[in-house]
Amino acid sequence: MRNLPQTVIQESLVEPQVIEAFARDAQAIVGADQISVNPADLLANSRDYWPVNNIWMIEGALPALPQLVAWPGSADEVSALLRLADKLKIPVTPYGEGSGALGGAIPLKGGISLDLKRMNRLLEIDEESLLATVESGLNGALYEESLNRAGYTGGHIPQSLSCSSVGGWLACRAAGQFSTRYGKIEDIAVSLQAVLPDGTIFSGRSVPRAATGPRLDHLFIGSEGIFGVITSATLRIWPLPEKRHLASYTFADLKGALECVRLIMRSGARPAVVRLYDAQETGNHFPELGDQRCVLILLIEGAEKIVAAEAEVIKELALAAGAIDSGPDHVEHWLEKRFNISVASMLFQKGAVLDTIEVSTNWHNAHNTYLAMQNALLAVEGTILASGHYSHVYPDGAGLYMTTVGFPGANKLKFYKEIWQAAMEACLAQGTAISHHHGIGLHRGLWMREEHGSGMEVLEKVKKALDPEGIMNPGKLGLGEVGLWQK
Ligand SMILES: Cc1cc2nc3c(=O)[nH]c(=O)nc-3n(C[C@H](O)[C@H](O)[C@H](O)COP(=O)(O)OP(=O)(O)OC[C@H]3O[C@@H](n4cnc5c(N)ncnc54)[C@H](O)[C@@H]3O)c2cc1C
Repeated sequence: MRNLPQTVIQESLVEPQVIEAFARDAQAIVGADQISVNPADLLANSRDYWPVNNIWMIEGALPALPQLVAWPGSADEVSALLRLADKLKIPVTPYGEGSGALGGAIPLKGGISLDLKRMNRLLEIDEESLLATVESGLNGALYEESLNRAGYTGGHIPQSLSCSSVGGWLACRAAGQFSTRYGKIEDIAVSLQAVLPDGTIFSGRSVPRAATGPRLDHLFIGSEGIFGVITSATLRIWPLPEKRHLASYTFADLKGALECVRLIMRSGARPAVVRLYDAQETGNHFPELGDQRCVLILLIEGAEKIVAAEAEVIKELALAAGAIDSGPDHVEHWLEKRFNISVASMLFQKGAVLDTIEVSTNWHNAHNTYLAMQNALLAVEGTILASGHYSHVYPDGAGLYMTTVGFPGANKLKFYKEIWQAAMEACLAQGTAISHHHGIGLHRGLWMREEHGSGMEVLEKVKKALDPEGIMNPGKLGLGEVGLWQK
């Protein structure tokens, strides 16, 4: 650990001789060049995109460090490594691309960071059944580009496309920007392969549906590495769309616009992209529209005749709701800018603390949750912005994505905890789910008991059954002892 910055929330470390024993046997499994205790590798796998990491990094500190990084090349190698770690009781934290937003990949108890990047092959495209089988470490953008070259899309385009992995999508229960048509990752995944801590390799069946008991693949979707390691998956794919139609409408107020979106979903139309911004975000992202109206961005794609019909239905509903048709240019603008997060880096450098908090609402509380979260965030001293948009919609509700920025001065961590406490309390009071797609990781685990109630006991029992030694990603999803990071 020499030459590395101090760690702030390292719960514990494994005895060095135990790590050395693991390293000796692991070399025989993956090869000497596929494990490392080099400080640069430990540093690279010590953190993810959780904003608190940035606060610490700017101060020259790290959250926690792994003691060894291993890069397995196959499910069999993952199995052998996990068996070995289980025997030696060494914590294992799976690592995809480290784009998680809540600290899920931080190795709180040291041990091994199991990095999936070498498992990056697109194994098969089944053009007849529209399925792709892919190893879990494949980078999202490379996956989508490979499909595009073959004439298909995977339908899953998160903003983090180029810095996240297929396994990370599954582990975090991710949602892409085109989710209203193609579904979230749990809709796209047909089956997956995962390795349990005792080395058992579970392989789901790639059939469209099976009434053969609970769907075990789904146990791993959203499990964030606490049950085992996802090694591959079979995902639905779609032919590249014949036609793409872009449309935008502005509304006098957010509540009226939301009601229009609800009616669009009720009509049966399924645009790929539906994004409704509050007036503040409309002004920030589309300055030409000003900050007095709320813009709804729509991207409809698929077979030409279906697209035309959907566009017509949506237009009728929007105009009937009093919206102004503002044409396709704002959607073009969104398409160009949608992966650009440079403002966040710039604000961090200027001393701001910012984060995004996404939650899941039914229609009856979609607007109230927005108001409650906005009021709660603005009430925290130091907050200068609390704005939002709805970016994944369903017949029964919507995902609400709040962005908050503050300049708290010296005590950034205190401010960070206060904004989250305020937002989570407001959200829970509305009966809204505390995450729509970023997942739980370390930080949101603090509210998991309030979210799930007795459901946490079920989660604990499943965890105990699959991982009796508790080696898999300890301290995440609100499970296990975490002493150093509290509310
Ligand atoms: C700029 C930005 C934009 C984002 N946009 C979106 C978005 O649009 N939609 C969205 O859903 N999310 C988004 N996210 C969040 C993040 O990208 C997703 O959660 C992503 O799915 C994480 O993938 P990863 O490979 O980077 O996982 P990591 O950060 O490496 O890991 C995340 C968690 O999953 C576990 N894990 C990783 N791989 C495996 C595996 N193979 N088996 C078991 N466990 C594993 C890790 O242990 C960790 O707990 C965004 C993040 C950023 C920084």
